[in-house]
Amino acid sequence: MGPAGLTLLVMMRGLLAFAALFVAVLGKETFEGHQVLRIVPKDEVQLALIKDLEDIIEFELDFWRGVTEAATPVDVRVPFHSLQSTKIYLETQEIEYSIMIEDLQVMLDEEQEEMDSAARVAEPRNTDSFDFSRYHTINEIYSFQDMLVAENPNMVSKIVIGRSYEGRPLNVLKFSTGGTNRPAIWIDTGIHSREWVTQASGTWFAKKIVTDYGRDPALTAILDQMDIFLEMVTNPDGYYYTHNSNRMWRKTRKPNSGSNCVGVDPNRNWNAGFGGPGASGQPCSETYRGPRAESESEVKSIVDFVKSHGNFKAFISIHSYSQMLLYPYGYTRTPAKDQAELHALAKKAISDLASLYGTRYRYGSIINTIYQASGGTIDWTYNQGIKYSYTFELRDTGRYGFILPANQIIPTARETWLALMAIMDHTNRNPY
Ligand SMILES: [Zn+2]
Repeated sequence: MGPAGLTLLVMMRGLLAFAALFVAVLGKETFEGHQVLRIVPKDEVQLALIKDLEDIIEFELDFWRGVTEAATPVDVRVPFHSLQSTKIYLETQEIEYSIMIEDLQVMLDEEQEEMDSAARVAEPRNTDSFDFSRYHTINEIYSFQDMLVAENPNMVSKIVIGRSYEGRPLNVLKFSTGGTNRPAIWIDTGIHSREWVTQASGTWFAKKIVTDYGRDPALTAILDQMDIFLEMVTNPDGYYYTHNSNRMWRKTRKPNSGSNCVGVDPNRNWNAGFGGPGASGQPCSETYRGPRAESESEVKSIVDFVKSHGNFKAFISIHSYSQMLLYPYGYTRTPAKDQAELHALAKKAISDLASLYGTRYRYGSIINTIYQASGGTIDWTYNQGIKYSYTFELRDTGRYGFILPANQIIPTARETWLALMAIMDHTNRNPY
């Protein structure tokens, strides 16, 4: 690159920094003209070419579904400023792609409008009048939790297991019908903040548990033997940020030393294969693993809680999107020693899920079903001896991706509940 090119690059970098500052001062980041492309690599050569795209930092591509293997689609959000260059790159290499989302901001505006119209309705005074078919702010979810505890003092309690980087409480609801330190099931939603259907489903699950106890024999049997712990907003700083600054935020909000890029991927920060392939060492990456395992208090707080409890038998971490049910491992090809049982149970769970609306899920180990990922939640929990460790990727398969319309929340939660029940029921019937 000649001096003129260099000057241009420096100028462009300056402009980008300026633009970032603008957003920080003026509020919400917009995504006008951003498209989400679905790219389908046909062979290893094209796969490598798409991987190279990830390294062109100034394109600022955001991989919604990462690069895996030939014939498996890759979904990527392309900012307006790099749209033409990206398309030229793909077309020159004869890589097939289609436009999944034409203009992301149009979809975000619709989502926001729905939220605004819901907000004009009076705040719910109890959990019966809570509108589960809408997305809610963190304060609304936190007040839902308090109402649920107040309405069900004999079954539900709130435990604050720690504080987020920005000081928000890390709330966990405990559902228990008695006993001391009973064998327990953990469910978390929203560790990646932009996966909104997960926090919304978590809220619905909480209500479902108190409603079904005493009515549904299977859930009643589970809660007569075991406790359920549910963390609905596992990355509260990120969730707040998705509502107020950047809807597409995935990571935590802790600044990184030596970089302007903020946040760590809390699903690469666990002490299982930490630092191996399938996570990034670059703070600007969406899969940045962090400076060390458990550097994020959102992760460390769960680690400490799980260890001190000592009696978790199932651990289910819920993400979106792509409709998958996954078990360990993500960081190694060595099969989990319980693979056969985990596989059979996953098969049962997804067939129960499909029985409601026909929603189809894929299932298998993380490394064989999606891609190699190190430092992930359920690899750590499995290595701690929690046999029934699973991760969900909820709806959809890419039509809306992370911007799943709110009218799909309840159907998603309802079908997912059937799969959760299959796992919880099996756990209860197979003590170890
Ligand atoms: Zn996720």
